[in-house]
Amino acid sequence: MKQEAVAKVFIKAETPFTKSSIALPDLGEEEILVKTSYATICASDLHTFYGRRHSCSHSILGHEIIGIIEEISEEGVLDYYGTPLKAGDKITWSVYAHDPNSTTSKKGYPQKSEGLYKYGHEQISEKYQLNGGFSSHCHLRKGTTIFKLPAALTDTEAAPINCTHATIAGAMRLAGNLTGKNVLINGVGMLGLSASAMAKELGASNVWVQDINIEKANHAKSFGADEAFSFGEEELKDFAKEHGNIDVVIETSGVPEAIENCIQLLGIGGTIVLVGSVYSQRDLAINAEYLVRNLLTIRGLHNYIPEDLANAISFLEKSHKKYPFKELVGIEYPLDELEEAFETGNKGSYYRVGIKP
Ligand SMILES: [Zn+2]
Repeated sequence: MKQEAVAKVFIKAETPFTKSSIALPDLGEEEILVKTSYATICASDLHTFYGRRHSCSHSILGHEIIGIIEEISEEGVLDYYGTPLKAGDKITWSVYAHDPNSTTSKKGYPQKSEGLYKYGHEQISEKYQLNGGFSSHCHLRKGTTIFKLPAALTDTEAAPINCTHATIAGAMRLAGNLTGKNVLINGVGMLGLSASAMAKELGASNVWVQDINIEKANHAKSFGADEAFSFGEEELKDFAKEHGNIDVVIETSGVPEAIENCIQLLGIGGTIVLVGSVYSQRDLAINAEYLVRNLLTIRGLHNYIPEDLANAISFLEKSHKKYPFKELVGIEYPLDELEEAFETGNKGSYYRVGIKP
């Protein structure tokens, strides 16, 4: 008889997860079975569990995952760089499996392609049961972009790469060349800290951050930020003018007031990239004449493309000793105590809560 996986299954919001034994799958074409090494609870997992966001059920939550390959389908699977993967490789992977030949993928938006399959979000089906991070195993489908993890990265550094850091790498791609630019990061959660460090590494001349919580904003100084401001401080506008205006804003809070504030802070030709607006909210008040006369660009990003994940891994490999990313997982729990882990995560005292299966 085949070995079984142990998973904590999400049934409905604010209801304890159901611990289930699930038979390990027979692998299909270009599929992989991973033994989960580590997972972190992302804000979207918290939103789902506390009913602030709709998600399918029954499902296995958790998409910030890393693991070790236990089994590969017969014909083999290549990683992003075309190297054959093998059992025992420690890997991370895109939060979704996609068909590269679909119409939307071909247009450059694989994360929105037809038939997209998202880890940690899908309803459990007969064929694909192990599809999330809060489980001993994960079943990777064809069309998942897979990367071997650099040996130097710790589990706590590596687990959030395929959501947080890859999303920020995508935001940086949309922001364009940052060399010599003044960059403002709005909102200092995990995304904001990643953005602060990445902007600095990409050559921004000044990285400024603002948050409603000045302590959080100040924390970004150990992640590359040159100056920290509490949200809405008039001082930031004068300060930016003195230093040649804000060229790029990376907006991670998703709060409409914050977005409107940041658009007003941009200098001529500025670009704002919105990544935080992933929950329902009111319309923005934007004056089109103001946008036109100031040559402003507003861009939105949801999820990312495989190249962004590649860049996120390289970024972390190069800079993990310079910035204390591993400290962002403030506490960890075994899989059996997933409910307690969610409770702790929802209190917001830690950037990330880790789960060790
Ligand atoms: Zn996430």
